[in-house]
Amino acid sequence: MSEAVDCVVVGAGVVGLAVARALALQGREVMVLEAADAIGTGTSSRNSEVIHAGLYYATGSLKARLCVQGRELLYAYCAERGVPHRRCGKLIVATSPEQIPALQGIEARARANGVGDLQWLDAEAAQALEPALQCVAALHSPSTGIVDSHALMLALQGDLEHAGGMVVLNSPLAHAECAPNAIELVAVDGTRLVARSVVNAAGLHAPGLAARFAGLGAAHVPVAHYAKGNYFTLSGKAPFSRLIYPVPEAAGLGVHLTLDLGGQAKFGPDVQWVDSPDDLAVDPSRGDAFYAEVRRYWPGLRDGALVPGYAGMRPKIHGPDAAAADFVIQGPSVHGIAGLVNLFGIESPGLTSALAIGEHVAALA
Ligand SMILES: Cc1cc2nc3c(=O)[nH]c(=O)nc-3n(C[C@H](O)[C@H](O)[C@H](O)COP(=O)(O)OP(=O)(O)OC[C@H]3O[C@@H](n4cnc5c(N)ncnc54)[C@H](O)[C@@H]3O)c2cc1C
Repeated sequence: MSEAVDCVVVGAGVVGLAVARALALQGREVMVLEAADAIGTGTSSRNSEVIHAGLYYATGSLKARLCVQGRELLYAYCAERGVPHRRCGKLIVATSPEQIPALQGIEARARANGVGDLQWLDAEAAQALEPALQCVAALHSPSTGIVDSHALMLALQGDLEHAGGMVVLNSPLAHAECAPNAIELVAVDGTRLVARSVVNAAGLHAPGLAARFAGLGAAHVPVAHYAKGNYFTLSGKAPFSRLIYPVPEAAGLGVHLTLDLGGQAKFGPDVQWVDSPDDLAVDPSRGDAFYAEVRRYWPGLRDGALVPGYAGMRPKIHGPDAAAADFVIQGPSVHGIAGLVNLFGIESPGLTSALAIGEHVAALA
């Protein structure tokens, strides 16, 4: 016989935990099923840990709305719960006059997205803030910051458990059967659970898992694509106190400089389309291309100063030749299955948006 639970969230990354917390705070019984032996070992621990302001995304998209809302929720939450973070700001830099129109485009889009605090800087003003920088103009985003993503996930798990919910580790979900009033879940070890609401927050594996939900139309399951982002760490002292981003390129935000809360600088992520979500090794030879890209805005980068760091995998739902996709959050009004919410393509700014995604999904489930 199957055990009955009110809500099951599949995946204990930052998004699954934020959704589970939001459901538990509504007074619902929540169980999080996590395949790994710890929370947050997927994409949530392989990213830049940047709190994005919400500059780049198509106006009106879920990414734009949930990033701007999520950023404010996140700063407030971190302050309230003592999660380490810093509103360090960032500069987006044009390194040639040809890039000025693209920078102006980012400024206009940011305003349309409700980000009203950007400042346009000429080269002199930018260098007054960051003397090591070379550029012809820059946009200063004071509401960009960095966060300790693990401390954030531990705080979310703490809230969930305080509200009566639980995380069950080492519990990969194998498949599910969708009936009119309940969804039956089958774990890899054969354990069965019946849930009124199920949220598929399995990150890179969300499309593959959804394809194993009997009763869910195949038309509602996107094809998964994987775009690896490699990072190289700077040996030595960071030359900047703010994050430095070039004008974005296709599929990513360009090889940028981010800082962690300990002050360590890293460059990345680049974009490398791969076939497997597990292909996370960093090929040291990819560092060669980083030197030229970084030296456009930081000519002082020494030969040999970049050391292979780590890689994260973007859970893409479009291929290399298609336009960037929005977050896809499918509730019953889309696929017709009561109680089921699928989250697809929750790439950047998913960390920033997590608390807002949690509220959005809790309203759908
Ligand atoms: C290179 C890179 C840089 C990024 N930088 C930023 C940034 O600076 N700022 C920002 O806001 N966002 C950033 N992001 C995006 C952000 O990291 C993600 O949006 C976010 O971490 C996604 O969280 P998640 O919970 O959806 O997925 P994940 O963290 O991948 O969690 C999914 C979980 O589901 C589990 N799971 C999978 N299958 C099953 C199953 N069958 N049963 C049970 N459990 C299962 C996995 O083990 C995993 O723990 C970046 C992403 C990448 C790749």
